[in-house]
Amino acid sequence: MLSGRGITKRFGAVTVLSGVDVSVAPGETLAVTGPSGSGKSTLLHCLAGILRPDEGEVRLGAERVDSLSEARRTTLRRARFGFVFQFGQLLPELPAVENVALPLMLAGVGRREAVAKAAAWFPTLGLDGLQDRRPGQLSGGQEQRVAIARALVAGPAVVFADEPTGALDSTTGAQVMDLLCGLAVRTGTALVVVTHDPEVAARCHRTLALHDGRPVPAESLVSGDARQSDDRRAQGAW
Ligand code: ADP
Ligand code: MG
Repeated sequence: MLSGRGITKRFGAVTVLSGVDVSVAPGETLAVTGPSGSGKSTLLHCLAGILRPDEGEVRLGAERVDSLSEARRTTLRRARFGFVFQFGQLLPELPAVENVALPLMLAGVGRREAVAKAAAWFPTLGLDGLQDRRPGQLSGGQEQRVAIARALVAGPAVVFADEPTGALDSTTGAQVMDLLCGLAVRTGTALVVVTHDPEVAARCHRTLALHDGRPVPAESLVSGDARQSDDRRAQGAW
């Protein structure tokens, strides 16, 4: 179980998160939604031990994350967390399979074994035959599938995804989300997905909606987001 209690974060005089409580269990998928600037990425960074909250605490199981030193948080992130970003997270000079193998090699697994383990993810992700392609030779959706494999390959407790479908068309985005959520459930990984897209959030078990750094009822954001997605709402997504 990953949990944050009373998370408050300030940048200078500006309070970006105010007393946010959040938790996500193994195999559970949580969407963090809200308009641009509402504090979604900052919350993700606090939960993942990238940023230290000014108040409140973050725990992974019994372990307090936020009070660890920078070096120990880095070690914890590598060992227990996986990350998927909007784009640009793969190393362009490495074949896809080596991108996936990287977290294993960082954890001390030998190169041959790491590459073999990484390759085993490709059929599951609909990427069979693409192991040796460079990221520049993959479509946006394929790149995100590679990123998902890389986030999961080392068996993390939690995967954090920040706008993972933000650079994809809605059909490809839906496929990527289904894959990510399905794998999280199957592998018992907790998943935290930051998104401003209600359709993406709807694929998660639960939603935490933020407005100006405070939790708000999820429905209160619908009217704002509906401006962009009336057509999808009409199709019954909501
Ligand atoms: P979201 O992901 O919901 O778009 P962010 O968490 O990125 O929002 O940002 C929330 C607010 O905090 C924004 O007003 C942003 O400008 C501000 N902010 C984010 N990171 C920093 C930083 N490192 N220094 C100063 N302000 C920041
Ligand atoms: Mg953001």
